Amino acid sequence: MSFPTRTNAIDFDSAKLQRLGFVPPLNAANEPVDVEELRRQLGLQLQTSLEAEKILGLFFRSVQRLVPFSALQFKHKKTDLRLELGTRARHRASYDMSLQGEHMGEVLFQRDERFTDDELSQLESFLACLLHPMRNALMYRAAMLSALRDPLTGAGNRVAMDQTLAREAEIARREKRPLSVLMLDIDHFKGINDTYGHATGDQVLRAVANDLKARMRNIDQVFRFGGEEFLIVLSNTGREPAALVGERLRYAALQLNYPVEGNPLALTVSIGCSTLLPGESTDSLICRADAALYVAKRQGRNRLEVAC
Ligand code: GH3
Ligand code: MG
Ligand code: MG
Repeated sequence: MSFPTRTNAIDFDSAKLQRLGFVPPLNAANEPVDVEELRRQLGLQLQTSLEAEKILGLFFRSVQRLVPFSALQFKHKKTDLRLELGTRARHRASYDMSLQGEHMGEVLFQRDERFTDDELSQLESFLACLLHPMRNALMYRAAMLSALRDPLTGAGNRVAMDQTLAREAEIARREKRPLSVLMLDIDHFKGINDTYGHATGDQVLRAVANDLKARMRNIDQVFRFGGEEFLIVLSNTGREPAALVGERLRYAALQLNYPVEGNPLALTVSIGCSTLLPGESTDSLICRADAALYVAKRQGRNRLEVAC
């Protein structure tokens, strides 16, 4: 395991982190803590789960009893995992974890007061408990992802899309919240393949998907619907804000600047937007987005159309 110095702090502010609404525990009224016992218990607890979120939550609660801190963030690029527990604060201590040469993610602790050297040593020694459970959780996540991801673009596949839509529609109905989707299609994509070849077409698809994922709050919102079509699921988003997100994405495609044969490729997208109606099925929601996309195409492309 390698621990960089405090000056190597990772800037999570710019990262789009998933907030889990975690409630920090009470610090057991400053009761003295038996460090070895705490470590032993934590070691046992962490082995009970393969879910990175749960493991991090258990770690957050346990270690808080020894070294108080207000936020814990975790980032693992390879599996697109970004988690945040607690409330952000000014002072940071960040660690890059690796095991047998394999990068195991970045952990960032935050709080309002500076961490003392003793506290940092304690955090570091507890991080060792996190390594093996986290490695197992990350392997599990990678396996899950490969079953739910489109291999070319890394966006969610149709299976993932159906699961997400069913879940989000259920939440929307139960909690009476809006749910919208954007159906995005690259304009004249066949021309890109015909002009530059299929391999370049693949690269362009990847670049578009990466750009979409980078611009969304949560990467798990972007799905490859088919060939050069992507579906973006906007939970808790009504018609007007969804159209604004769509316009932002349409504009972003114009700025993509993906170089092909030394020149930036001019690229536009058309988008259909729909918002779940009372009692509507997710199939119908998608159909309406698709119909709106068709209108956007007919009206000249590089447009967003909102379904009525
Ligand atoms: P429009 O503006 O009407 O959407 O025109 P278009 O050319 O984008 O649409 P069309 O449906 O005519 O063609 C889609 C093209 O996308 C044809 C197909 O070969 C290409 N395509 C689909 N999947 C892939 C892929 O995985 N890789 C590459 N390189 N091309 C793909
Ligand atoms: Mg197209
Ligand atoms: Mg298409």
